[in-house]
Amino acid sequence: MTYQPNPQRYEALPYRRAGRSGLRLPAVSLGLWHNFGGVDRFENARAMVRTAFDAGITHFDLANNYGPPPGSAEETFGRLLRGDLAPFRDELIVSSKAGYTMWPGPYGDWGSRKYLLASCDASLRRLGLEYVDVFYHHRPDPDTPLAETMGALDQIVRSGRALYVGVSNYPAARLREAAAILRDLGTPFVLNQPSYSMFNRWLEPDGLIGALDDEGVGAVVFSPLAQGLLSTRYLNGIPGDSRAASATGFLKADAVTPERIAQVRALNDVAAARGQTLVQLALAWVLRWPQVTSALIGASRPEQITDAAGALNAPPLTEAELEAIEAILSG
Ligand code: NDP
Repeated sequence: MTYQPNPQRYEALPYRRAGRSGLRLPAVSLGLWHNFGGVDRFENARAMVRTAFDAGITHFDLANNYGPPPGSAEETFGRLLRGDLAPFRDELIVSSKAGYTMWPGPYGDWGSRKYLLASCDASLRRLGLEYVDVFYHHRPDPDTPLAETMGALDQIVRSGRALYVGVSNYPAARLREAAAILRDLGTPFVLNQPSYSMFNRWLEPDGLIGALDDEGVGAVVFSPLAQGLLSTRYLNGIPGDSRAASATGFLKADAVTPERIAQVRALNDVAAARGQTLVQLALAWVLRWPQVTSALIGASRPEQITDAAGALNAPPLTEAELEAIEAILSG
């Protein structure tokens, strides 16, 4: 049957401005790193994307290497763009990236102009799109001059392959350098994509929030649920259908320690007292920074997306609640 999206979809989620740009993103975005590959069930991927769009999630995050096999998540999303989503291209923000290993040899990895342009073209072919909305450099490259990588991003925009550019996993100092180069070039640089969650707070001491503010760039933060640890999923062991149990998942079973689970239980109590789920609390917590434009979640089933999309339905976190969370995290 033809897909009819929820007519109320734009009344549910707040849309937040990416830095000082004109681009607004849903407070919660959906990433296709896991569970959208060639090894996964297409009908489940389709149900998740429909659920997301119905909940007001307009932003779908991809990369050349997402799968497995690499490239297949873009193929899955391409199939949906030709099907259910075909009438809605102008309501969508589709992002992709290059920077990790994609093909053998010296031109399929890191940050050269050679790699980025070829990879962007390959992503567009898999997606069946003329342009992506955001194209990111996926990780800092210690060897390629930053001016070369940023020049490639600039060319990707000028040639019509992307509307905006971003960087990912760039710490504050590198972000500032990138922003200066892109400002000189006149490139629309709107996002950094770092990891960030209650269990992974590297960007706070790094000074990234201040750098984002100074440069007028927003953050789309990935793995805000610590790959599922910040949910009730692991309270009674490791379920067989979870990421920690999966052969292709990046979360390893040894990350599920008794100490972690004790923290998760205590955080779950804080969430319950606010009338939220733990997932919603974890997302509200990363979104407490105005510089964080969107929390970029993953999912293995549609209900998880519905849960996450309710993250900002409760009142903002109070000082007392933030202190209670700090006490749990430092305990
Ligand atoms: P999360 O921290 O949101 O983890 C997602 C996992 O958490 C899901 O697969 C699911 O695990 C579990 N989960 C999600 N919602 C719920 C819920 N409501 N209740 C219970 N469990 C839940 O994010 P990811 O690690 O998946 O990363 C998100 C996105 O970020 C990626 O898809 C990708 O787009 C991007 N990313 C970017 C990187 C970069 O270098 N730029 C690196 C990594 C990710 P389960 O499968 O066990 O059900």
